Amino acid sequence: MVERLFGTNGIRGVVNEELTPELALDVGRAIGTHMKGRVAIGSDTRTSADMVKSAVLAGLMSSGAEVVDLGMLPTPALQYFVKTNGIAGGVMITASHNPPEFNGIKAVDADGTEMPRSKEEAIESIYSSRSFAQRDWRGVGHVQKSNEAILSYHNAILGNVDVESIAKAKLKVVLDCANGAGSLSTPRILERLGVRTVTLNCNPLGTFPGHPSEPTEDHLEDLKSLVKETGADLGIAHDGDGDRTIFVDEKGRYVYGDKSLAVVASAVVKDRGGGLVVTPVSTSSCVEDAVREAGGEVAYTRVGAPIVARKMIETGAVFGGEENGGLIFPEMQFCRDGAMTAAKMIEIVTTEGPLSELLKKIPTYQLDKRKVHCAEERKERLLREVCEAYAEQRVDQTDGIKIYFDEGWTLIRPSGTEPIFRIYTEARSEEQAKKIADRCEKVVKELLED
Ligand code: MG
Repeated sequence: MVERLFGTNGIRGVVNEELTPELALDVGRAIGTHMKGRVAIGSDTRTSADMVKSAVLAGLMSSGAEVVDLGMLPTPALQYFVKTNGIAGGVMITASHNPPEFNGIKAVDADGTEMPRSKEEAIESIYSSRSFAQRDWRGVGHVQKSNEAILSYHNAILGNVDVESIAKAKLKVVLDCANGAGSLSTPRILERLGVRTVTLNCNPLGTFPGHPSEPTEDHLEDLKSLVKETGADLGIAHDGDGDRTIFVDEKGRYVYGDKSLAVVASAVVKDRGGGLVVTPVSTSSCVEDAVREAGGEVAYTRVGAPIVARKMIETGAVFGGEENGGLIFPEMQFCRDGAMTAAKMIEIVTTEGPLSELLKKIPTYQLDKRKVHCAEERKERLLREVCEAYAEQRVDQTDGIKIYFDEGWTLIRPSGTEPIFRIYTEARSEEQAKKIADRCEKVVKELLED
């Protein structure tokens, strides 16, 4: 029996409880055995970074891997280094937005993208069968430190935005890195862009003393008030490993990730004179509305950033992303990129005007979220039955079943980890969303009673 190690976000757990040095060592051995070659490693700012990284390093080297240690850096900076240095892959020690007692191990493919499931399975199979490559004293790997990754990442970002116009605009920005890995990178990018930056929680501290490292509205109260108090043009917040970015407009208002996704998607499509934007089926229709208005098209995928990235590669999309602030720019790399998102939004505000004005053009929808209990073995049949029940409607079966109505849509999706179905409904008004959700929930519950 092959043990599943990687979840949707790599391997995550509480340090020294689930994520022990023994586990990290064996995962390192399995990754090194699978990757066969030079491997890059880096970490976010968590207090356990050195412990977990050292164990993974020992495992990688015992399997013969030559390792480049990039130190502390944002996940997309490591991904960019892997992509541009022709090496076998990367390992990032991070638990992204989880609380400080967590850490994690994330594997990156040779092209810098998050590792596809098939390759994770190959690593899991090596781990479960303990068929590690075990080199003798002549064959063990070495570790070499490098501090090049951040600089080349910055150069690439600066090459993908209009630095001259940005510098001329002399914008003022408040930047909140949540004491995470973005602290090592984004303040320096903003400096090179000529943006006047007020930093908040931009010293790397793995206890996350400022606020928890998930950029939700209630964690960004200080950012919101500082934007207002300093009269800044924009507030920028990263999650713990700097692959996601959330914004605050110049009035100090939190901007939901679907809205910023729509603003950037619209600007990119306009700039390219059309093109395809890729996003998961769960994304608000405000993104499709904005993209269509700008002359582009939207393609939907199953939920998950690596799936969005793969679809973008397959279709030659101009842009893609998720509504949690994870935006993907193909001209840079096929993964969520927090600093590129920040630089792009600064460019958009510079050329198109204040964020609050841009947001006025994005339609607002209301979301109704609920869940229904459903036993694991009943899930597949329920999905089929829901599909039959809505045979007359337009449906999308990319991930669960999304049913389109005149007033909005409902997404009915089985949870991958719990015995529940999630029912997400979106409509123009709260009442409409509730009405549709009530109807769908009733249908689901009646089917379950059979
Ligand atoms: Mg993250």
